[in-house]
Amino acid sequence: MRQSIVLLPGDGIGPEVVAGARVVLEAVARRFGRELAFESCPVGGAALRQGLPPLPPATLAACQGAEGVLLGAVGDPAFDHLPSSERPEGGLLALRKGLRVYANLRPARIWPGCEGAGPLKPEVAKGSDLLIVRELTGGLYFGEPRGIDRAAGTAFNTMRYSVAEVERIARVAFDAAQRRRRLVTSVDKANVLETSQLWRTVVTRIARDYREVTLQHMYVDACAMALVTAPSRFDVILTENLFGDILSDEAAVISGSIGLLPSASIGDGPGLFEPVHGSAPDIAGRDIANPIGAIASVAMLLEHSLGAVEEARAIDAAIDRVLTDGHRTADLAGGGAHVSCSRMADLIAAAVT
Ligand code: NAD
Repeated sequence: MRQSIVLLPGDGIGPEVVAGARVVLEAVARRFGRELAFESCPVGGAALRQGLPPLPPATLAACQGAEGVLLGAVGDPAFDHLPSSERPEGGLLALRKGLRVYANLRPARIWPGCEGAGPLKPEVAKGSDLLIVRELTGGLYFGEPRGIDRAAGTAFNTMRYSVAEVERIARVAFDAAQRRRRLVTSVDKANVLETSQLWRTVVTRIARDYREVTLQHMYVDACAMALVTAPSRFDVILTENLFGDILSDEAAVISGSIGLLPSASIGDGPGLFEPVHGSAPDIAGRDIANPIGAIASVAMLLEHSLGAVEEARAIDAAIDRVLTDGHRTADLAGGGAHVSCSRMADLIAAAVT
């Protein structure tokens, strides 16, 4: 059976890292006998340059009909003067909305030999391998009522969660933990917030369906501290929208380079997979970007959209092997010898066994 993947290269280094990720995906498909059909569509500045909106309707339709979507990056300084909905980045927001994704998954791990690449002491960072599962469509960012009362000189937002919203995101986290080290840390502020008290009650109930997974609860302030003092204690961190927004950026520094970080946004339809980095116009077109964030995003696509866990692990193992062998892109080389973006992708593809 052929499975359809939509590629959205986008802007800047997006096309370079997506090309690298495709090479690795094709190698895995060959190795495991999986048939994939690729379709490439314009998004962001690449669409604007063709006289199309940042998310052309045909691109959205292709994504909605696919099994999984891989995005490179959007963002082009040539369009920075436009109103935000018409800029390249508006295409990404519209795409997330159009795919109705509600869970954001952000892994952060230390790859071999990269322990000293980030700001944490190597002995603190060592062994870190965590996944943040963030609720994406509820909470303070979307709650009503909201507004500014100029006459009263006040502004207000509403943090609201329903039982159903907490249940579905909790299941994403427990399902992921079952394929990992079987520990979920649910992060809230239940000592102060009623939404967190509901969150904690629902998560505790859902945990009963996953008896082989251990659940612990942690306040968000304590979690923020533990992420930089003892990151290796975490496996899956489950949290709501605002806390997840902040904690996932904090956790991102553990890895040592933004070019290493993958992400997934999943819902009930096709998932959206993308490296965390932007279009990096400062290095675009020079074949020096790190493609590992995009390649690790492809591993997430295999796991979460195609249910191909073995293939996903094969990609992770190949990245591990190539880094263990000492190959580095410029961002990780500290001024030393380095390989190009395309060469790094070829090395990882060749290491897939
Ligand atoms: P950025 O992530 O593009 O770049 C930040 C820094 O990290 C730059 O110095 C860049 O060279 C470096 N970098 C990023 N990815 C790298 C990689 N794979 N390998 C090596 N180095 C890498 O963030 P920015 O500069 O703030 O934004 C640039 C553009 O990207 C803007 O238009 C912004 O709106 C957009 N953006 C898009 C996304 C997205 O598509 N998801 C995310 C963030 C920013």
